[in-house]
Amino acid sequence: MDVIETSEQLTSRITRLKKKGTTIGFVPTMGSLHLGHLSLIEEAHKKSDVVVVSIFVNPTQFNSSDDLKSYPRDLEKDIKLLETTDCELLFAPSVKEIYPEQDHRIFDFGQIDKVMEGRFRPGHFNGVAQVVSRLFQIVKPDKAFFGLKDFQQIAVIREMVKQLELGVDIAACPIVRESDGLAMSSRNLLLQPEKRKKAPIIARSLFESCIFAKNHSVEETRNFVIDAINGDKSFEVEYFDIVDGETLQPVKNWKESICIVGCIAVFAGEVRLIDNVIYKNSES
Ligand code: AMP
Repeated sequence: MDVIETSEQLTSRITRLKKKGTTIGFVPTMGSLHLGHLSLIEEAHKKSDVVVVSIFVNPTQFNSSDDLKSYPRDLEKDIKLLETTDCELLFAPSVKEIYPEQDHRIFDFGQIDKVMEGRFRPGHFNGVAQVVSRLFQIVKPDKAFFGLKDFQQIAVIREMVKQLELGVDIAACPIVRESDGLAMSSRNLLLQPEKRKKAPIIARSLFESCIFAKNHSVEETRNFVIDAINGDKSFEVEYFDIVDGETLQPVKNWKESICIVGCIAVFAGEVRLIDNVIYKNSES
C-alpha cells in the first residue's frame, strides 16, 4: 500500500490507472479505523479493481471545536491495519491540501438535511458535502462506499452527486456491530468504561422496537425507544425519528411508505452516538 499526501501525486496515479481502464473504488474515512471501515474496503475490493481509502478529519463538518479536538486520531495504527487489507492507495492529506482556500460553498439539499443530524448539527452536512465533493474531484472514483450507520449522510451524498453531476455510484453497506450489538464507531473509544458497558442498550432498544412495532403505532414505537434509553440515567436521547427512508421526513403510520427507518442520536455523557434500524424496506 502506498501512502500519498498530496492531491497532485494522487491525481497523477489515478490518471495513469484510469488510462489502463482500471476501475477505482473509494472509501472516505476520518481514520481511527475499525471493522466497520474494513467492511467497506472489502466491499470496494469486490466491486472495483483498485481500492483507495482516504483518512481526513474534516474540520468543516464539526459544529463544535471541542468535538473536533477530541476526535480520536492514530495514523500510524491505521496504516498498520490498512496494510492487512486490500487497500492499494491511502490518501492522507493535510487540511491545507484539501482546502488551499476557505470553502465558501453552500449547498441546498432541500428537506433532506433539515431533519435529524442536520437539525441538531447545523452546518454538518454542508461540511460533509464540501469534503466529499473535493475528495471525489481528486480521487475520481467510479464507485464510493459508505456505511448505513450514517443513514442520512448517504441520502445527502446521493443528492450532492446528482446536483453536481459527478457520475459516482454510491454504494450503501450494512452496519457492523460489536458482539454486544453496539454499532462500531471511532467515538466508542471515547466512552467511559461504565458507559461503554451499558451502551448496547441503544441497539437493543432499536431491535426490540422492531417487534414492538408489529402491533403498535409509530408514535408508540417512538416513545418505546426513547423511554427505554432515557430510563438509564447514563444516556440521553437527543432525537429518535421514524422516517421515510428516501425523503427522511417523519412518517405518522406504518403504511405511509415502503421504506421506514428509525434514526437515533444519544448522548452518553459528552460522547454522542448514532444508530438506526430499518423497520420496513422495499424488499420486505
Ligand atoms: P467515519 O470515519 O466515521 O467518517 O466513517 C467513514 C465511513 O465508515 C462512513 O461511510 C461510515 O458510515 C462508515 N462506518 C462507520 N462506522 C460503521 C459501521 N459500524 N458499520 C459500517 N460502516 C461504518
